[in-house]
Amino acid sequence: LSACDLPLGGRRVTAAANSVEAACPDCGVVSTRVHQRTRQKVKDLGVGGKDIELVIIKPRFLCSEAACARRTF
Ligand SMILES: [Zn+2]
Repeated sequence: LSACDLPLGGRRVTAAANSVEAACPDCGVVSTRVHQRTRQKVKDLGVGGKDIELVIIKPRFLCSEAACARRTF
């Protein structure tokens, strides 16, 4: 999505996961209902001798199965 230089050196790269559906790890029901999007930082990525901070924006889904104890995943 974007890339920018950080004030203390290094570079931040932001990417988004393109998942539109996922299966609940508890009940296995596939859901397309996005609850929210979370930002996950992946640190200590060195590319070509430069520090790279990778930020991945990924969806958190609502489980579609009413009887499932897990609400989001
Ligand atoms: Zn579930």
